[in-house]
Amino acid sequence: MNRERFERVRRRLVELDVDALLLSIGADLPWLTGYTAMPLERLTMLVLPADGDATLVVPRLEAPRVLEHQDLICVRPWEETEDPVAIVAEAVGGRRSLAISDRAWAAPLLALQASVPDAKWQPASLVTGPLRAVKDAEEIAALRRAGEAADAVATALVEGEIALVGRTEAAVSREISDRLLEAGHQHVNFAIVGSGPNAASPHHDAGRRVIGRGESVVCDFGGVLDGYCSDITRTVFTGEPPSEFRDLYTVLEHAQAEAVGAAVAGVPCEDVDAVARRVITDGGYGPHFIHRTGHGIGLEEHEDPYIVAGNCEPLHRGNAFSIEPGIYVEGKWGARIEDIVVVTDYGPESLNNVDHGLTWTL
Ligand code: ZN
Ligand code: ZN
Ligand code: ZN
Repeated sequence: MNRERFERVRRRLVELDVDALLLSIGADLPWLTGYTAMPLERLTMLVLPADGDATLVVPRLEAPRVLEHQDLICVRPWEETEDPVAIVAEAVGGRRSLAISDRAWAAPLLALQASVPDAKWQPASLVTGPLRAVKDAEEIAALRRAGEAADAVATALVEGEIALVGRTEAAVSREISDRLLEAGHQHVNFAIVGSGPNAASPHHDAGRRVIGRGESVVCDFGGVLDGYCSDITRTVFTGEPPSEFRDLYTVLEHAQAEAVGAAVAGVPCEDVDAVARRVITDGGYGPHFIHRTGHGIGLEEHEDPYIVAGNCEPLHRGNAFSIEPGIYVEGKWGARIEDIVVVTDYGPESLNNVDHGLTWTL
């Protein structure tokens, strides 16, 4: 239970004129209380009013998992035969400006909307997003440990310790997953392996394609360590890369490095995206960079701040996010380089430190 976060949330509720925050499944609840609701059909919901005591409505059988801190929240277990929506509505009382977890199930939300028909609803991220985006020292330490664990696997990849040619993408993905766990992750979020033409699909599902020689292989993987996510991408080439691919890769490497360098407090998020995009466009690959430059990371793989055109929010000290430009040539090949970066008083700090140079393996 984090008293300071409770206070910050309450202050922001008042600022935004939101009467109560309703947190269900998703990362806001563990960020605030340390308790993670299971993604069950049974409703778990914290009702945190701007002006009153917080109530955690939780299925009776989950109640033993709740660490009760009576001074901050009151736990209200509900029996199988009770209607949890009615209990939540009662806790909401006469409050009408409500913010609910972005990832709450639609079914309880619809029922709540029916029982509080005159309420105004907003996504909880409006309240929590900017708060969660500024990591404290403990959170940065956790992200750093996750980054180091991911680096151990990426190092094995670029040093050729993980065999590629002759194996399926799925087999390589499994090995990467196993290594992420061995390196200390509690679980694996994803292990994308896209080879040959599949490397042009940024989120390719590792499949039965057998990796051949003379191909680019994009490997993007991450997991959760002590609650915090890792996320790294390295691209390797099987066999000696042709000059056309080297050129592409050199442009990408510059784009990634320059965007990292631009990630300084006060700089709008969209400017960091623009830096990567300009380098890639100047290099002649503009139309082949088909996604944003990055996403925030923390308890979730993707969270605020998003490094994308249109996000004019300035970066703050403590923001942690990916810088992951990519160049994708459909039907042929692709490449991406991704590191997690934290904004510090001394400039950007990369939490991933595996060499970026184009490496080729056999
Ligand atoms: Zn992605
Ligand atoms: Zn990634
Ligand atoms: Zn990412």
